[in-house]
Amino acid sequence: MTERLCLVHYHEIGLKGKNRSTFENQLVTNLHRALAGWGVSAISRISGYVVVETEDRQASEELASAIRRVPGVARVSLAYKCGLDEGEYRAAAVRALGEAPDFVTFKVHARRSSTTYPVHTLEMNQIVGSALCEAFPDKKVDVHNPDVTVVVHVVQGSTYVYASSAPGVGGLPVGTAGKVVSLLSSGFDSPVATWMVGRRGAICVPVHFSGRPMTSDTSEWLCQDLVDALAPSGIVGRLYVVPFGERQREISLAVPQGLRIITYRRVMLQVAERIARLEGAKALVTGESLGQVASQTLENIAAVNEAVTIPVLRPLIGSDKQEIIARAHEIGTYDICCQTAPDCCTLFMPRRPETHARLEAVLDAWESFDHEGMVEDLVANVEWRDFSQCPSYHAPKGPLRPHHRELLGREAAER
Ligand code: ATP
Ligand code: MG
Repeated sequence: MTERLCLVHYHEIGLKGKNRSTFENQLVTNLHRALAGWGVSAISRISGYVVVETEDRQASEELASAIRRVPGVARVSLAYKCGLDEGEYRAAAVRALGEAPDFVTFKVHARRSSTTYPVHTLEMNQIVGSALCEAFPDKKVDVHNPDVTVVVHVVQGSTYVYASSAPGVGGLPVGTAGKVVSLLSSGFDSPVATWMVGRRGAICVPVHFSGRPMTSDTSEWLCQDLVDALAPSGIVGRLYVVPFGERQREISLAVPQGLRIITYRRVMLQVAERIARLEGAKALVTGESLGQVASQTLENIAAVNEAVTIPVLRPLIGSDKQEIIARAHEIGTYDICCQTAPDCCTLFMPRRPETHARLEAVLDAWESFDHEGMVEDLVANVEWRDFSQCPSYHAPKGPLRPHHRELLGREAAER
């Protein structure tokens, strides 16, 4: 019986010159982790593809869909693998084209990566083309703009035949672009921002600030659901949760009403920066989009940004809400974000937030409470959960590690 497998195409990795094998190896590692439980028997590299084979030698559409979610995957083709015998690959081409939905025209595209194979590609095109014309007399050949292209590729003693491939998420394999800490609320924007940076190869470590103990922990559960939705793509290493309610109350008592949100955000960024240093992350990520809400004017973004020195990436800064929502649907976070939950953003909100804050006033407010002690205390009380789908994630090293061990111990004890 002819074997069915998934051929994974990865255009962008091919552009990386000498780094190419590092990128390819990372993609193979990530696929191994993402496909655990799918009955995969081998994942190997051949001539510009990654090949995923299953124990039952019959890869399915469902497996192809799971592969398409992995960053670095440009396209996935469900292909037949056969020998070099003409009869075998002609029959596979007939099966492959027979499975193509609604088409009128087709062409054959033969390729050889094995120079030892004696049949020329022009001849292969003819051999396969005539078999297809015979099997599908009502369909037409169109070599310029066909509805379906049947690829017949000879590689290392085997022939791979496929008629359809579907696009993957693209981007680069996670683990090839370092690590970021992303500020994750349970709104639509920040999960999309996190996913976008993860798709470009960064390991993401989300941090969520909850209103606990002043609010329930619902937003924390929503964030866990969000991260669970993102986890199969392998972008998330660990989710941190910072109970922030008590500290927000202190801020609301200390600073002028209009500057509360900016002050909350400055504390959040500083805590996230500390976690980033601990994690060895090189940037923060937020879901801000210019002008979307009061806190996202240029003046306010600058006043918040001033609190940290680490770069803050804002992948959605130029996106409209409709675009963000469309992406949220695609990545499976939309329905989760539709559930509203009180988080720290809904706590102690001013009636009239400042939309164009003056930095001088912000800094005066900042000096009116013990912000250093507050950040210290918040970092000391972070909680977290790890996600096994990100093979490149390594728990923090560095000066604060003993402290982390202590926290880990506490988490384990509470389980
Ligand atoms: P989102 O849809 O991501 O909640 P938003 O449109 O509600 O964003 P803001 O509430 O102004 O916008 O938040 C701007 C950004 O600040 C968010 O995208 C997120 O990165 C970060 N942020 C806001 N609230 C929190 C929170 N509770 N925990 C962690 N990060 C947060
Ligand atoms: Mg929000």
